[in-house]
Amino acid sequence: MKILLNDFKAHESLTLEEEINPDDLDLDIGIMHFPDNLTLSAEAWKSGDEVTVQAHVEGMRNFTCSLCLEEFNNLFEKDFTLHYDIKGLDSISLDSDVRDEIIMEHPIRVLCRPDCSGLCPFCGANLNHEKCECKSKE
Ligand SMILES: [Zn+2]
Ligand SMILES: [Zn+2]
Repeated sequence: MKILLNDFKAHESLTLEEEINPDDLDLDIGIMHFPDNLTLSAEAWKSGDEVTVQAHVEGMRNFTCSLCLEEFNNLFEKDFTLHYDIKGLDSISLDSDVRDEIIMEHPIRVLCRPDCSGLCPFCGANLNHEKCECKSKE
């Protein structure tokens, strides 16, 4: 998202909305994926040499469970505020800061549900769906 400083009218905030293509921001890292575009909505204020942006980003997020390796979706949502020093600039680009805010939410480990039973280390059965005989044989 780019904000042109000329678009600011005196004493008025600027409202912007944009679709983000996850590929453009290089968001597909590790176990977090975004199958669809995200929506970025922002309200920006200019005061003197500073622009403040109140942003909201949301989109469907796809995970692979760290225990059972099953894929699942949940909604990603985040509100954040950005500040820009606009001295000598005629536009500001939010992209790298928006990316940072999203990547910051990247978990190291994620479970499909709090009580995920994971995979059997012996036969690989998904213990959320089936019971295997490995434990009883032991
Ligand atoms: Zn799981
Ligand atoms: Zn087993």
